[in-house]
Amino acid sequence: MRYDDSPPQPETAPAPGADRRRFARRSALAVAAAVIAPTTLAGWVLVQVGTGAGADDARPPRIAAPAAMGTGTPTATPTSTASPTATASASSSPSTGPSASGGPAPSPGATSPLAGKTVVIDPGHNTGNFDHSREINQQVDIGTARKECDTTGTTTRAGYKEADFTLDVSRRLRTLLEGRGLKVVFTHEADRAWGPCITERARIGNEANADAVVSVHADGVSEGSRGYHVILPAKVKGGAADTAAIVGPSRTLGERIAANFARATGSGPANYLGGGTGLVVRDDLGGLNLSTRPKVFVECGNMRDSKDAALLTSPQWRQKAAQGIADGIVGFLGG
Ligand SMILES: [Zn+2]
Repeated sequence: MRYDDSPPQPETAPAPGADRRRFARRSALAVAAAVIAPTTLAGWVLVQVGTGAGADDARPPRIAAPAAMGTGTPTATPTSTASPTATASASSSPSTGPSASGGPAPSPGATSPLAGKTVVIDPGHNTGNFDHSREINQQVDIGTARKECDTTGTTTRAGYKEADFTLDVSRRLRTLLEGRGLKVVFTHEADRAWGPCITERARIGNEANADAVVSVHADGVSEGSRGYHVILPAKVKGGAADTAAIVGPSRTLGERIAANFARATGSGPANYLGGGTGLVVRDDLGGLNLSTRPKVFVECGNMRDSKDAALLTSPQWRQKAAQGIADGIVGFLGG
């Protein structure tokens, strides 16, 4: 998102012509949706893409949230992960290993469906970006386009930086995931002067063979725009970008995270995009276009809205946010 709050915009400025495409898409899809929407998921997806970036004036603003989430995502199986770990571990191969020889019980991780799995967490932006405009403005190739290496991110009106928020939530998330036996890799930890570039953020997830990748953000749009949304990769192909293999699993991951985020935080889905579902599909984010692993962005709230900012600046709320994201990831990975 932009540092200034002038025109309400998505995370990064859309490419020239994006608005035109959006309107063209919306009108075409209005027809398509009327035909398809009542029955199929495909219809729902089309509706989602068509309405994702527009203002959602037709939707009631930010109604009591977690319930709305469930009705808005037909395929979601909102699994609070509070449940099935006992059955999962009980079902995995008890006949081999140390227990057969009377040795010590295997470690919990050894029989968990989460064992051996890797999650890459990408804390959005970097506080150092504010002092490295030249470096972060260099153009990089995201396959389908060229765009800036990285962006500063936004701040609350009181000056709390998105990059500090994303790193704090990411660290809380890491603690929770490691507590479940998952291996966690960060794209950076403010241990570098700026960046990394979006291309490198994607590469880190790919080279880690991550089972899930989550990029943590908060949005920077106008006062009154509130709530969370999860950004899913569109199907794109061009240059190094080919998301065909990750579109499906990334949607599943995103739906899990959205449902659990709503439950854990009590926040509603964004009232300014996503048609009240808390899910948005985008084709312009390098971090998604270049990913070969299931990946989503989580926009936890709007830093430029005073009510959302009060949540985002609360350590207790950030813990809830991390818990919701963690539960979504763990559910996605079968834990
Ligand atoms: Zn951001």
